[in-house]
Amino acid sequence: MQTVLVAGGAGFIGSHLCKSLLNDNYRVICVDNFITGNKNNLKDLLRNPEFTLLEQDVTQQIQNSKFKIKNLDYIFHLASPASPNQKSAKSYINHPIETLLANSQGTYNLLELTLRFNASFLYASSSEVYGDPAISPQKENYYGNVNPNGIRSVYDEGKRFGEAITFSYFRKYNLDTRVIRIFNTYGPMMQVDDGRVVSNFINQAIRNKPITVYGKGTQTRSLCYVDDMISGIKSAMFTSGTKGKIFNLGNSDERSILDIAKLIKTLTNSKSEIVFEDLPEDDPKARKPDISHAEEILGWKPKVITEQGLKMTIEYFKSL
Ligand code: NAD
Ligand code: UDP
Repeated sequence: MQTVLVAGGAGFIGSHLCKSLLNDNYRVICVDNFITGNKNNLKDLLRNPEFTLLEQDVTQQIQNSKFKIKNLDYIFHLASPASPNQKSAKSYINHPIETLLANSQGTYNLLELTLRFNASFLYASSSEVYGDPAISPQKENYYGNVNPNGIRSVYDEGKRFGEAITFSYFRKYNLDTRVIRIFNTYGPMMQVDDGRVVSNFINQAIRNKPITVYGKGTQTRSLCYVDDMISGIKSAMFTSGTKGKIFNLGNSDERSILDIAKLIKTLTNSKSEIVFEDLPEDDPKARKPDISHAEEILGWKPKVITEQGLKMTIEYFKSL
């Protein structure tokens, strides 16, 4: 049986990934410090004898003694706060130093661990490396339009550093590494209170509270259902020929935020009114992935249409 380490495994995407890897018969070690994650996400997994939880910060060195294992085959690095919403205590804007360090020192520690075990490594970067993109859709060879010291820079520049150090280990040590750039992902296990657009709108709509659109709602996002994202992440790690490559992973179904608000209102049969609030600083105006590289190399593309994925996510939030 092969062993996989998932850093950030108690988070939204990480907990889905741990579950899926256990189903695929891997032994899974989840490393998480719960800065934005949730133990509830792991409640079923903790009963599985092949699942181990290591409560630790990836910015601290990970000692062999803590693992008590001889082999480590794959390391997925997803450990980072991920929400930009300043109004949420869980956002990276409210954890600026932790975010920079999780993606710099944390990536360094995990790459050293990869080297020590001669394992394979995947770094979860973000569409945020494109900043407020001047071109759309975004292709992997676009260098982005990033404010290097604005409020979002802790995340954007953290991810850019994470990519740079991942590629340095590939070039210097010929380490088996790859980078994925995740575009907006949603689904069950999202945190109710992390302030991201889908969780906010659904939770407001099912309570008939005002749906808060920031700015005029003309900015766009392309939403990917989490099951599609997990199959993309696993393909990027396990498909041969992915060493030293970068993949955009996301759904290219681009919609305006106002349209997403209206759609969620309709799907929840909600009486909520749609209200407009200030647009946050440096909020990207458009985001749409060009996924042709992932389609070609991984044979991957999302299957779940937005309406269908939102319905499943609405059911999840209603069940809480
Ligand atoms: P999340 O906040 O739900 O999960 C992140 C997990 O990492 C949490 O469990 C948190 O406690 C853990 N963590 C953070 N810093 C840590 C540290 N120093 N040591 C150990 N654990 C730490 O977020 P998510 O949406 O699941 O995102 C997962 C990854 O995917 C992140 O790296 C994020 O940047 C990236 N990403 C996500 C999206 C998205 O739309 N969800 C988009 C782009 C990139
Ligand atoms: N947004 C919004 N209302 C909310 C939450 C978010 O209008 O209650 C907008 C936000 O300004 C951004 C988009 O929705 O334009 C996506 O925001 P999110 O926080 O999910 O992540 P981002 O894509 O900006 O990283």
